[in-house]
Amino acid sequence: MIPPIASRFVAGESPAEAIDHARECNEGGVNVILNLLGEHYDERAPAEEDAEEYVRLVEDIGKSSIDACISVKPSQIGLDAGEDVFDDLLGRIVERADEAGTFVWIDMEDRHTTDATLDAFEKYTTQTDGNVGLCVQANLKRTEDDIERLADLPGKIRLVKGAYDEPKEVAYKKKSKVDAQYEKLLEYMFEHFEDGIAVGSHDPAMIDLAAELHEEYGTDYEVQMLMGVREDAQFDLAEQGVEVWQYAPYGGKWFQYFYRRVRERKENLTFALRAVLGR
Ligand code: FAD
Repeated sequence: MIPPIASRFVAGESPAEAIDHARECNEGGVNVILNLLGEHYDERAPAEEDAEEYVRLVEDIGKSSIDACISVKPSQIGLDAGEDVFDDLLGRIVERADEAGTFVWIDMEDRHTTDATLDAFEKYTTQTDGNVGLCVQANLKRTEDDIERLADLPGKIRLVKGAYDEPKEVAYKKKSKVDAQYEKLLEYMFEHFEDGIAVGSHDPAMIDLAAELHEEYGTDYEVQMLMGVREDAQFDLAEQGVEVWQYAPYGGKWFQYFYRRVRERKENLTFALRAVLGR
């Protein structure tokens, strides 16, 4: 069982708990992106096991009345075991999700995975006429070229600042430069994308900018934030009519994820403690 201190960031251990969490969020107008915790399997068997759980999950979401979708990590569904394994397992998930009417996001991992992830996205978003979304990272120098390629494809794109510590040869390192790059890429996306943009950020400055760009270009967008981070803002934005999606991880591997949230921002521990103590 997940201790109360961690349950601020993790939606439960089982798919049923994750679906219950989604239902609760939906009541407040927030949609949910479910992610089964797991990554870096270098053998096919564990990757296949997670892929099978995703298949059942997309079917369950499709049969339910909840507003939810999934997000998968390439290294969770086989990329470290081989591009053929990744292609096979992602293809299985995407095909069943498309039949069930459930949307599939692909997270972006470190720079060694970017090409394979872009290629897989291109293949499956084209095959499903846009039932797949891809995350791109503003800190990577290559992203400027990548989003030009993505502009011509169906499917949604989530822009994030980038969570991986990449070398300066390939990535911007200064926070101010990453922020400036995020703003520049976001404007490009509002100007050139037709299938929807996801602002994957907790940063009020980026969320305000997206609202301004929406006024200017009319392009649809949604805001995506992590479970347990600025949750008040998530529900406030939804109440103001902004489409909000909460990225909610679940599963047995919750400890590592919780530990990462606390390490990246000490206040997260304070927030979690307050939630437990009811203050
Ligand atoms: P930051 O630049 O970290 O902070 C800017 C401001 O946001 C802060 O000053 C503060 O006002 C506010 N803020 C940020 N965090 C908090 C907090 N904990 N509590 C209160 N206020 C806060 N990265 C990847 O590399 N690949 C992915 O596939 C990926 N998927 C993601 C999906 C979603 C839905 C989200 C939200 C993020 C994802 N990320 C991913 C992580 C992302 O790259 C960033 O590392 C992370 O979101 C931190 O950047 P930020 O834009 O939220 O804000």
